[in-house]
Amino acid sequence: MSSIKSTTIVGAGIAGLTAALALARKGIAARVLEQAPAFEEVGAGLQLSPNASRVLADLGLLDVLSTRWSEPDHILLSSGKSLAPLASVPAGQSARSRWGAPYGVLHRASLQAALVDAVWAEPLCTLETGRRIESVRDVPSGAPDEVLIAADGVWSTLRKAVPGALPARYSGNIAWRLLVPYAAAPPFLNPRTVTAFLGPHAHLVAYPLAEAQAFNIVAIHAQEDAPPEGWSRTGDTVARMRLQNAFAGWHADIGDLLNAAQAPLMWPLFGCPDGAWTDGKTVLIGDAAHAMTPFAAQGAAMAIEDAALLANRLAAATDVGEALRAFEKTRRERVARVRSRGAFNRFAYHARGPAALARNLVLALRKPESLAADFDWLYGYRTPD
Ligand SMILES: Cc1cc2nc3c(=O)[nH]c(=O)nc-3n(C[C@H](O)[C@H](O)[C@H](O)COP(=O)(O)OP(=O)(O)OC[C@H]3O[C@@H](n4cnc5c(N)ncnc54)[C@H](O)[C@@H]3O)c2cc1C
Repeated sequence: MSSIKSTTIVGAGIAGLTAALALARKGIAARVLEQAPAFEEVGAGLQLSPNASRVLADLGLLDVLSTRWSEPDHILLSSGKSLAPLASVPAGQSARSRWGAPYGVLHRASLQAALVDAVWAEPLCTLETGRRIESVRDVPSGAPDEVLIAADGVWSTLRKAVPGALPARYSGNIAWRLLVPYAAAPPFLNPRTVTAFLGPHAHLVAYPLAEAQAFNIVAIHAQEDAPPEGWSRTGDTVARMRLQNAFAGWHADIGDLLNAAQAPLMWPLFGCPDGAWTDGKTVLIGDAAHAMTPFAAQGAAMAIEDAALLANRLAAATDVGEALRAFEKTRRERVARVRSRGAFNRFAYHARGPAALARNLVLALRKPESLAADFDWLYGYRTPD
């Protein structure tokens, strides 16, 4: 029986809300403090792989999520130059049977709304908006043994409370996010797949968002210099030109899609180096601990896995410090492996010249089922008790 009765969680993003629910289901109260005055449509599409949807299913969210998301039939890798498929991994019903949970795509706001509703309905959770927490001193004092969970995202201010935690760094890549309504979508966008179009130093991912009746497009290109402070979120003329240049030489339909985009959002991509996550009282989770580039589409999934393990560890704890360190150790190994997969994808997706030819040849020789088997360790993962 745990000696921990209550926690304070800073940040009501994917990590904080999932942690609150997971803790409450183990009998531990969670007080969530969120800086935003209200929950707005922040972000864009998310792919939720089976390792994440399994946790959400265990928390009772699958029925509501199933009404909002779609489950693509395949995950495709395609050539950005010819649009021809290079490889296909079965998803849809195959994901459910192979990995025991669905592969869904939805708007981040839909996931956040489902989590907020579940947190509101949970008697052991409270959720306060308009509560910005700059430092540990701002956290309202609770029970003496209370655990502080910092789920305040990539720009975490509570990170500085943990000695050895490291701030986020620019990754050398820019993401652009845009929505293309189904009614205006060019025919090469497939409503039944997640497709990653690959090319030199860049790639573009497209998938349907059923709730928005639109395709979610993420175009990512390498850019050595970090955008200067003050660049608008929609990107200025120079930024738009760099986007066009990054995709010059690709299939004309992709160039046209990016040209026609109305006010796409520009997201310089940041990641956290491998620093400390806990001092034995405060623990960082989600992007606050290990923000990563989206090359493996696993940032939110790792936040959700963090939440599940943290709840298990705290529920079984007799010593908080030990429980938090055990949590950090287990999660660090898993996150490191996922990061390596992201780094591999970055190399493979953005390859050029002979490396790209070799990639295409290797992919052409692989059968869909054998490609799916490569993901068993990632998507088939189950949180330890
Ligand atoms: C282009 C792109 C595509 C992506 N695609 C995917 C994908 O397909 N699949 C996937 O799994 N992941 C994806 N990710 C990653 C994913 O979006 C993040 O990893 C995830 O949202 C992190 O969740 P979080 O709860 O840790 O942080 P956030 O979602 O950033 O939440 C942090 C919360 O804390 C609040 N907060 C911050 N500071 C304070 C403060 N001082 N006081 C109080 N509250 C505060 C914020 O308002 C916010 O609500 C993508 C990311 C990008 C950039």
